[in-house]
Amino acid sequence: MSNVGKVLVLPKQFVKGMGYDLVITNQRASVQDYLDALNKAVDALPLSRSRKKTAQCAGCDLCCAERAPLTWLDVLRLEEYLSPGEKLQQLLDRVGHIVVDGPVVDITLRREEDGRCTFLDRSKLLCTIYFARPLVCQTFICCPGTSRAAGVRKWVVNLGEDELVRRWLSHAVDRGIKPRFHEGYQPNLRLNDWQPNAFTGKNSYHQVLLKEILPPGLWKQVFSVS
Ligand code: SF4
Ligand code: SF4
Repeated sequence: MSNVGKVLVLPKQFVKGMGYDLVITNQRASVQDYLDALNKAVDALPLSRSRKKTAQCAGCDLCCAERAPLTWLDVLRLEEYLSPGEKLQQLLDRVGHIVVDGPVVDITLRREEDGRCTFLDRSKLLCTIYFARPLVCQTFICCPGTSRAAGVRKWVVNLGEDELVRRWLSHAVDRGIKPRFHEGYQPNLRLNDWQPNAFTGKNSYHQVLLKEILPPGLWKQVFSVS
């Protein structure tokens, strides 16, 4: 068992190999508690790697060639790590990819022509921003997992990305400029479509509580005091 206190990552055997389940044991558990528990489990548990079929991720680039949505807090961390003080739009132009399809917006990590993330060291196949890598990178491992574990990841990533979109749009509205995106299909952007959520006003994953993110039904499934 990997236990960092408020969130437990529990090994679970599936037909496809060793995977994990997730239990939240404290009402005040934060997204950072979730990340700490998962990062520890990835090192400590004998989780299967269904794609790589070896013990560790180092030297594998397969998931670095996939869509990697960014959260508001990922972008704050990237700005601190790479270029303190850089404006949101400039940072996203450099490290992100913004796609607008009608009213829908998707902001992801930028990928280069070879389809792989801009931050991947091509020769060593290692992440060059490992300690500031986005939440979606920290929470993915190609092993089986329970549906409640997948549900927690989905809600955290989605609400974090929604807040990034809201900040990006309000940044443009506040300055009276048009939001700049990298691909657009009949764009129909409305700031009102992106309401504040549990990420709003926060500047660290320690401040965002899982209970404020998860819908009540999922919280009931994943919370246990025993
Ligand atoms: S989680 Fe990603 S990096 Fe690790 S083995 Fe699987 S595909 Fe490769
Ligand atoms: S940030 Fe790092 S871990 Fe995430 S996709 Fe890019 S290279 Fe891979």
